[in-house]
Amino acid sequence: MKIPFLCLKATNQIYESQISEVVLQILTSGWYILGERLNQFEFEFAQYCGTKHCIGVANGLDALTILLKAAEFPANSEILVPANSYIATILSVTNANFTPVPIEPLLDNYLIDYQLIEKAITPKTKAILVTHLYGKCCEMNAINDLARKHNLKVFEDAAQAHGATYMGRRTGNLSDGAGFSFYPSKNLGAMGDSGAITTNDDAFAERIRALRNYGSSEKYVFDHKGYNSRMDEIQAAILSVKLPNLDADNLYRRQLAERYLTEIKNPKIILPPSDSIENDAWHLFVIRVKDRDKFRLFMSEKGVGTDVHYPIAPHKQLAYKEWDKLNLPITEKIHQEVVSLPLNNALIAEEISYIIQYVNQF
Ligand SMILES: *Cc1c(COP(=O)(O)O)cnc(C)c1O
Repeated sequence: MKIPFLCLKATNQIYESQISEVVLQILTSGWYILGERLNQFEFEFAQYCGTKHCIGVANGLDALTILLKAAEFPANSEILVPANSYIATILSVTNANFTPVPIEPLLDNYLIDYQLIEKAITPKTKAILVTHLYGKCCEMNAINDLARKHNLKVFEDAAQAHGATYMGRRTGNLSDGAGFSFYPSKNLGAMGDSGAITTNDDAFAERIRALRNYGSSEKYVFDHKGYNSRMDEIQAAILSVKLPNLDADNLYRRQLAERYLTEIKNPKIILPPSDSIENDAWHLFVIRVKDRDKFRLFMSEKGVGTDVHYPIAPHKQLAYKEWDKLNLPITEKIHQEVVSLPLNNALIAEEISYIIQYVNQF
């Protein structure tokens, strides 16, 4: 059997005729940017998340950057971030000209260790930007309580957690504002780049809306030094086609994840946490293996594609060479051992059985 880690052609196949139709409608409408399709998707996604506002932008990194920019913190403010995240979380802070301060994760669930947050707070700290990594929500009650106590804002990087819930509320609605990515491989993926910001704060939303469009609140009037970061009509329409299926897609991912969790039995493999299976969006199914290269080679010889999210920690990247001396052993251990198994809506039961068989054989 040959099972690629992810085949986007296969995952999008069920939408083919609906997407062709809306793309043609947009082509012939002659209106391509900031139109009805975007308004419609923003309305639908805000409803889905349970927030007052959704503002479509060009990608997930921009969503986070603009979110932070719109907060108007003083220059050089410190933003607490997870040391264990995709680099975009941290790039958004430096792109917004603030200082990211990395916090170690919990080894149990790979998410920011909220018990380490308080120690990292200084007079310059203005916000905590958490990542719901792999589709699992951070401990938001504890984090929001801490933020309230220290007068900090809380933001979510929800790029991997569309539809994940925490205490009955969806991501995007668990903080002062959230950034989403609709990069093609995400749980809700476009056919190109796009992203969105959600918030319940009217004035904040207004500022974000201006910032994504050159800082303009009215044509040729510029109140802010903004960006050009707009979700185009085609991506918005495609996302409107796919959004009604998101919950069913996430449920299917969960069912596959449950099979991995119950049927993988190999002492060499550390499974992901299963304490909140029904709440997680299961963006990725990430296991840990000591001999990762050997495992990946073994699986690829059996025809199974795997991936690593992520191989090099942000503080070990050349881009953050000023962090090279930081001691973040849990983050480093995770980056050395994680492997992602295939998990998407194009996989069938026999393929999952096949993958499990060889994971157990390793
Ligand atoms: C994908 C991703 C982003 C960035 O999204 P883009 O749309 O690729 O810019 C940010 N944070 C996390 C955790 C992601 O997985």
